[in-house]
Amino acid sequence: MPDSGRERIVTGADDEARAERGAAEMLSERASINSEAPGMNDLRPRRFTEYIGQRQVVNSIQIAVEAAKHRGDTLDHALFHGPPGLGKTTISQIIAREMDTTLVHTSGPALERPADVVGILSNQKHGDVLFIDEIHRLSHAVEEYLYSAMEDYRVDFITGSGAFAKTINLPLQKFTLIGSTTRAGMLSPPLRERFALTYHLDYYSVEELTHVVTRSASILSVAIDQPGANVIASRSRGTPRIANNLLRRVRDYAQVRREGKIDDAVAAEALHVEGVDELGLDRLDRLYLETLARNYGGGPAGINALAASANEEVQTLEDVVEPFLLKIGFIMRTPQGRRATSSGMLHVGAPLSAARATDAGQGPLI
Ligand code: ADP
Repeated sequence: MPDSGRERIVTGADDEARAERGAAEMLSERASINSEAPGMNDLRPRRFTEYIGQRQVVNSIQIAVEAAKHRGDTLDHALFHGPPGLGKTTISQIIAREMDTTLVHTSGPALERPADVVGILSNQKHGDVLFIDEIHRLSHAVEEYLYSAMEDYRVDFITGSGAFAKTINLPLQKFTLIGSTTRAGMLSPPLRERFALTYHLDYYSVEELTHVVTRSASILSVAIDQPGANVIASRSRGTPRIANNLLRRVRDYAQVRREGKIDDAVAAEALHVEGVDELGLDRLDRLYLETLARNYGGGPAGINALAASANEEVQTLEDVVEPFLLKIGFIMRTPQGRRATSSGMLHVGAPLSAARATDAGQGPLI
């Protein structure tokens, strides 16, 4: 089948010049999926058959895609949620490709004004996929335009003001909205309810990530054996994006310090140099744990206080650091704040007394 999926990228520039250029012109900022810069994006799977793991999600979406194609219809609106780097963008691009249609890529923060979203919606062609990354960051005013667009394929907007005010009803082509978010809980119920298909992407197993590393190594022409791929996979925090990043760092190390070939010893050495420990925790993860353990005696500590002490953004801690620490049972979220568990305290060599009380006391809220 010809690879006709194309991606139009709408960026989030925020200035008057952009407003003047208008939404139609913004849409002409295109990038083809086929001409991805060598490096990151050439590792993206391009078909469902190449997409590793998430079997239940892939099976379900494949059925929905095939059924829609069979009916000659567009795909229902879909929402993907889960931590960053798990393949939400990748699967959305695959959907557009498998539906043999165009994907328009934008993000919640880029759609600042109602005019931005009306411009994009009115440019959708029949069957196009509109992909909105970080959809939880849409403003309420912009979000409201999506309600009628998603449900009835029209937008109503007012031009002029006072006595000259006029409501324009703009019919739209039938399109598919795909939303991606790391924070499904922050989506307003009316928006969430308009997605007929909702999928949660979960962390990948070490076995699946070993497969990701082996596949990426073969695309990048990197020599790696199975134990080497396994070491990288087991330190990738369940996340394909991290697995690919670590593979690149290990490749560089192997190239400069060894003969280019990656085995388990080379991978372990390289990751040690990168500050990635046996569980895959990096400097930021450990800084978070150490701050919680040492500055706050294991907690409870509020996220704002932790972010200030660690000199990091709250959002980075909440989206990037905490989900995996919660998953491996190193921290808990309680009504009083974040607490380190005894395994979390042990991992950074902190005294256990506070954590023991924590483990026995308030259970996790997640
Ligand atoms: P998200 O949108 O969830 O942040 P992406 O779709 O951008 O994540 O994925 C990050 C990278 O991880 C991609 O460039 C791709 O190379 C890789 N990746 C993601 N999911 C998979 C998968 N299921 N199989 C193989 N590689 C994957």
